[in-house]
Amino acid sequence: GVVDGLEIQRAYTPISSASAEGHFDVLIKCYQNGLMSQYVESWRTGDTAFWRGPFGGFLYEPNKYGELLMLAAGTGLAPMVSILHSITDNAEDETFVTLVCCFKTFEGIYLKTFLQEQARFWNVRIFFVLSQETSSGQLPCSYREKTYFGRLGQELVRELVGSCRRQPFALVCGSLEFTKDMAKCLLCAGLAEDSYFLF
Ligand SMILES: Cc1cc2nc3c(=O)[nH]c(=O)nc-3n(C[C@H](O)[C@H](O)[C@H](O)COP(=O)(O)OP(=O)(O)OC[C@H]3O[C@@H](n4cnc5c(N)ncnc54)[C@H](O)[C@@H]3O)c2cc1C
Repeated sequence: GVVDGLEIQRAYTPISSASAEGHFDVLIKCYQNGLMSQYVESWRTGDTAFWRGPFGGFLYEPNKYGELLMLAAGTGLAPMVSILHSITDNAEDETFVTLVCCFKTFEGIYLKTFLQEQARFWNVRIFFVLSQETSSGQLPCSYREKTYFGRLGQELVRELVGSCRRQPFALVCGSLEFTKDMAKCLLCAGLAEDSYFLF
């Protein structure tokens, strides 16, 4: 896009299924002073925007891993969504998934309906970690048992790794700080360096 005469490019992750043809969806968070954010906010239905890609370093293969432990913060949920689609759209893929979604508040959780639908699959578990909520009293009943409060840290990561039903391979996506923290936590929980991928 062009903002104030400046040509800018940013990366966004498709959240549609890899088998989608002729279209793709993206989940874009707009930042108040962000350059691309201002451009995105100016879009109106029917406008054309230019995209190139896809690019990326993680190629998902059905049944390659026993269990995927996905640790996602904020828009870091995006790459997990298309992998979840690939798994649950394919009846022959028996990969177990444990998705841990970290957000500040319940209100701020993205794609709630999609996540609730995915959590109904026999091989998918979804947990939430809310850093700015303190009690389950305000949450809908369907979230109470699968929501943790505070920040995702070493103890909870160890518990999640320990609760995986098969040998986990972890996928991590979020801010640089989140990604670094999670890599440390996974190592402390006993995962080898080749048992996780950092987006
Ligand atoms: C591989 C890859 C995939 C990505 N996928 C997505 C995606 O699916 N959805 C999505 O929304 N974004 C995604 N991003 C981030 C995206 O590319 C942009 O960085 C983001 O949209 C901000 O761009 P901007 O031009 O609006 O802000 P900029 O003009 O680049 O930044 C302006 C200010 O906005 C704030 N800001 C920018 N980014 C962040 C951040 N991540 N966290 C906190 N504050 C920030 C900061 O205060 C910054 O100084 C991805 C990035 C990468 C590298």
